[in-house]
Amino acid sequence: MPGKRGALLDPRSREYHWVATAIQAVAEASGQKSRWNKRVYFELSGLEGAASPDGGMSVSDATVLHPLRRAYAGEQLTDSDLSQLRDALVTLTHESLHLCHELQNADGAVQLSAAELALEEGLAENWAQQNVHQVIHAMDLAGKHPTLLTQKPVDAYPALQSATTTLVDGVDTLSGRQHEEVVRRLQAAKATERFGVIADLVIEGRYGGTGDRPELRAQLERTLQEKFAPVLTVERDGSLDADAQKQRGSEISALAVAELDQVLTSPHSRSPAQQPQAVEQTWEQQILAWQKEQTQQAAAREPQVGSVEHLQKFLAQGQPHREDSGQVAQLPGTPADPRHLIARRNPGRAVD
Ligand SMILES: [Zn+2]
Repeated sequence: MPGKRGALLDPRSREYHWVATAIQAVAEASGQKSRWNKRVYFELSGLEGAASPDGGMSVSDATVLHPLRRAYAGEQLTDSDLSQLRDALVTLTHESLHLCHELQNADGAVQLSAAELALEEGLAENWAQQNVHQVIHAMDLAGKHPTLLTQKPVDAYPALQSATTTLVDGVDTLSGRQHEEVVRRLQAAKATERFGVIADLVIEGRYGGTGDRPELRAQLERTLQEKFAPVLTVERDGSLDADAQKQRGSEISALAVAELDQVLTSPHSRSPAQQPQAVEQTWEQQILAWQKEQTQQAAAREPQVGSVEHLQKFLAQGQPHREDSGQVAQLPGTPADPRHLIARRNPGRAVD
């Protein structure tokens, strides 16, 4: 079960203090307000950590707190220990960033589409990998273990991370804005409004304003919802190794960007993209739906290929024009997977 919470950590304990320090450091470094409700639980699902819709944080005793206890005790750590320690800190960073993002609707439910969920996870993990050093410094671990800062990253979501990077790169190109600014705008937006933010950015880049193009904006949003969603299927595909997931995630995202460009260029020549289905379920129903879904094969279908002329660089990073080389399982409008949303997996373990 995702996000299976155990007992609360005592707020007077040092473990609680470590988690609180990380949460505060992430809020400061990201410039965003945290929704943390001051509660920290033991995570019992086997995952490294989870951020809950109610603002609670849970962490694994074995894979997050234990490495920290050893580090603060001044034990001699091997390279492998240091790698695990860094990953524990990335987990704290990743979950803390989820707590800075607005994921819920007015009723407190999290109802993200597959594409929105994939982007939230990709943004959270990429940011965590790039900013974990700020948490390491805040937790005063750099002095004790200086080589912690140079440990190799262990990516928890290879497909979602590469797809997110490719998407942001594409938006940079189409909008003429800096990469950092695009990331900042996406981080600050509600998870359900990020594709609208992208639509605004690329319309501004192409036409110099957004005010009088509501139909184009809606069409761009729908296109992204449909074309970006399959990266979640790739992330869940246990038959692919991390490198293959990375490559496939990037390819799907490059095609989504190419499609975005085509809609921008000739909006009315495109057939309307499918409407993403809103996930109108409670949190518990989403969990049940996800478990049921795991027993079914996702229908495979050919990805659509868009105009790629001046976006060639994105496609060229992977295997250009691989559109006919295999099928990409697509899961439009799939119920949001709460485990992906709230939990950081233990690298090396299957996501599901
Ligand atoms: Zn996550």
